[in-house]
Amino acid sequence: MKQLESSTRRRLLQGLGAGALVAGWAGRSAAQGTAPEVVVVGAGAAGLAAARDLGAAGRRVLMLEARDRIGGRAFTDGSLGAAWDRGCSRLHASAINPWVGYARQNGFELVADRLQRHVYEGARRLGGAETAGYRAVKARLQQELTDAGRRGLDIPAAAALTQVTKADPWYPLAAADVAAWEGTEPANFSTLDRYQFIERGEDLLIPRGYGTLLAHYGRDLEVRLRTPVGRIRWGGRGVAVETPVGVVNARAVVVALPVAVIAAGAIAFEPQLPAEVLAAHHDLPLGLMNKVALRFRRNVFPREEPEFLRLQRRDGRGMSYQTRLPGSQVCVATAAGSLAYELEAAGEAAAIEHALGELVTMLGSDLRRHFERGVATAWSIDPYSRGSYSYCLPGRYGARALLTRPLAGRLVFAGEHTEQGAYGTLHGARLSGERAARQVLGLLAPGSGRSA
Ligand SMILES: Cc1cc2nc3c(=O)[nH]c(=O)nc-3n(C[C@H](O)[C@H](O)[C@H](O)COP(=O)(O)OP(=O)(O)OC[C@H]3O[C@@H](n4cnc5c(N)ncnc54)[C@H](O)[C@@H]3O)c2cc1C
Repeated sequence: MKQLESSTRRRLLQGLGAGALVAGWAGRSAAQGTAPEVVVVGAGAAGLAAARDLGAAGRRVLMLEARDRIGGRAFTDGSLGAAWDRGCSRLHASAINPWVGYARQNGFELVADRLQRHVYEGARRLGGAETAGYRAVKARLQQELTDAGRRGLDIPAAAALTQVTKADPWYPLAAADVAAWEGTEPANFSTLDRYQFIERGEDLLIPRGYGTLLAHYGRDLEVRLRTPVGRIRWGGRGVAVETPVGVVNARAVVVALPVAVIAAGAIAFEPQLPAEVLAAHHDLPLGLMNKVALRFRRNVFPREEPEFLRLQRRDGRGMSYQTRLPGSQVCVATAAGSLAYELEAAGEAAAIEHALGELVTMLGSDLRRHFERGVATAWSIDPYSRGSYSYCLPGRYGARALLTRPLAGRLVFAGEHTEQGAYGTLHGARLSGERAARQVLGLLAPGSGRSA
C-alpha cells in the first residue's frame, strides 16, 4: 500500500492549512492529468476491490479511509506475539470464495477447519454419545430454517422453528451457533435472507491471518489514511466528497462503508438519500461478534493440538474457544449477540476476566497462574464499523438488492451488506466491490448517457 500519509502531507497541513490539502492534491494532480475520476470511500475489502478493478481498467481512483490502516473489519493483530484476527478469520464457502485462489497464488497457507469440537458441562468434557442430542437438534434447526426459506418466508428465524425444536434441552446451544453466524438471536433476523446465503465448500483457516491476506491484496493501492469523509454531495455534475482536510471532486463515488455507519447518519448526503435507500440501510443492522485473545505462559489446554471448546449453559450464552493458535500459547474466545453487547459494555478488563473465568470453569483454576495478558475487541463502539456483520430484519428481504442500484449515474454502494449470496463475509465484501467497479465502468463509458 502506498500510504500517502507522509511527512509531505504533514508539511502541507502545516503550511497550507488543513482545508486546502485534499483539494490541493486533486488540483495539483489535475494539472498533471491525474485528478481522480472516481473516489472510493472506505478501504475495507469492498473498497479495495473496487479501487483495484477500476485502476486495472485504467480509471484514476482516489481512496479515502478514516482509520490509520486499510482492511476495515479484516485486521490481523500481532500484539500478543501470534497472528490472530480481530475481525474475520475463516474463509467461508471455499468452493466459491475468490480469496482462496488469491491466497494460493500468493503463498498463503490455507488449512481445512477440522478442529475437534468439545462441549463441557462444568468441568466435565462430554463424550460423543452425550452430545448426540446437540448435533441432532442443530441439524433439525438448520433443516427447519432451510424449509421455511425455500417457501420464501421472510419471517423471524425463531418463528420458523417448531416447538419441538425450541423445547429441546440442547436448543440454546444450537441457537447460539446460529446467533454467532448472524451476530444476533434467531428472533431478529430474516429466514429468507439467511436462506439466500450460498454455502459451498468447507471453511478454511489461514494461519497468517485473513487480515494479513487483505493487507497484501491492498498493498499497492493508493489510499489517503486518517481522512474521514463527512459529506458527499451528489446533486450536481459529478460528486464532491468532503473531508476535514478538503474536498475531492470526481465523476463518480463508490461508497464502501459499513452499513451501520450510514444508518447512524455519520455521513451527510446532499441531496439526502432517497427514502427507500435510507430505509434499506436501517433494514440491515450490523450484528455483533467480539473476540477475546488470551495469552498463557505455557500450554494450559488438555491437548497440544488446537481444539474448539464450548461451555454448555442452559441459556446458551457461553463463549466458544479455539484453544491454541498454531505454534503459540494464544487462545481466542468469541461471543456473539446479546452476550457480546454485555461484555463490550462491561469494558475490556471485564470481558477478559469473563473469558478467563469460563475457561477456569471448564479446565480448572490452575490455568490462571499461567495467564499473561489478554485483548478484547469492541466492534460496536468502533465509530468506523459500529458492529460486526449485517443481518436482515424480518420482512425486509430485498434491502440488499436495492442497495446495488446506482444513484443518479454517479453514486454506487458496496460492502458486505449489499452481497445477498455472501453477506457478512470478506468474500462478500470483495464481490460487492467488484460489482461496484463494473457498474462505475459502465456509467463512465462513453455514450452510456449516464456519466456526469
Ligand atoms: C469479529 C468478526 C468476525 C468475523 N468473522 C468473519 C469470518 O470468519 N469470515 C468472514 O468471511 N467474515 C467475517 N467477518 C465479516 C467481515 O470481516 C466483513 O464482512 C468484511 O470485512 C466487511 O468488509 P467491508 O469492506 O464491507 O467493510 P469494512 O471492512 O468495515 O470497510 C469499511 C471501511 O470504511 C472505513 N470508514 C468508516 N467510516 C468512514 C468514513 N467516514 N470515511 C472514510 N472511511 C470510513 C472503515 O474504517 C473501513 O476501513 C467478521 C467480522 C467481525 C467483526
